[in-house]
Amino acid sequence: KTAYLGNAFCDVESARISPFDRGFLFAHAAYEVTAVYAGHLVDFGGHMARLDRTLKGIGVPNPLSGEGWTKIHRDLIAINSLTEGLIYLQVSAGAYGLRDFAGPETFQPTVFVYADARRLIGDAARDGIRAIFLDDSRWKRRDMKTTQLLSQALAYRTARESGADTAFLVEDGHVTEAASANAWIVNGEGQLVTRDLSPSILPGITRAGVLDLLEGSGLHLVERAFTPDEALSAKEAFTTSAGAMIAPVVAIDGQAIGTGRPGPVTRQIQRLYYQAMGADVAA
Ligand code: PLP
Repeated sequence: KTAYLGNAFCDVESARISPFDRGFLFAHAAYEVTAVYAGHLVDFGGHMARLDRTLKGIGVPNPLSGEGWTKIHRDLIAINSLTEGLIYLQVSAGAYGLRDFAGPETFQPTVFVYADARRLIGDAARDGIRAIFLDDSRWKRRDMKTTQLLSQALAYRTARESGADTAFLVEDGHVTEAASANAWIVNGEGQLVTRDLSPSILPGITRAGVLDLLEGSGLHLVERAFTPDEALSAKEAFTTSAGAMIAPVVAIDGQAIGTGRPGPVTRQIQRLYYQAMGADVAA
């Protein structure tokens, strides 16, 4: 398998970086995960725009142009014969002598990109996933996609210990988002509810894609925070992310959501999203 590190392609097994890299020491790094479907990048422009915003937020210059990023992604897809999966990219602030909080005036970023072949529309999309509620212990700038992911990594471990697949994170009595996805419910009035954008959540590219598709669909969207109780009494729940696309949530804290099976609104949104990607699949 071939990855891209620094400014060259290399074998993933032989990829090495300095332990003094600020990504390693301080999680001083931005990342993006783009879906590849039928060999094509999904919503790449949105991922590039968000990468720019995160890099500005963490004071790291974008080391590549839009064309440069596109070429690396397309080359990795071609070299690895990737038809379905993800491309992970990370830009860290780089390595400079010994550990120093502030670091140099200007950063020379480290770039790392690799391809991960996997099914994006698989068992989770068909059968749904199970969640648990957990306290959202992340920092306050969740709108930036940084590699500061310990809170989410621990949330996934806790979820797995309780026999679940993911967590719905809760802050001040409301769900912020899922551990690595945006959270949605369909309530008793048939409204589709997902949290409004703010520094409390990541502005998901898949979330934005779904919002675009809702226009003209007849579905009624409300962007606002919802409570864990609203989620438990919802008719349907699902998450959106580049990695799992539209994943029905069929139970939370062991309690069935709606019928305990993926619901019709979730199925409709899956169909719309897959169609927009050019996918030839029925969930
Ligand atoms: N929220 C969080 C915390 C995430 O980590 C992710 C994706 O990794 C998302 C939402 C979904 O974002 P996207 O649709 O851009 O993948």
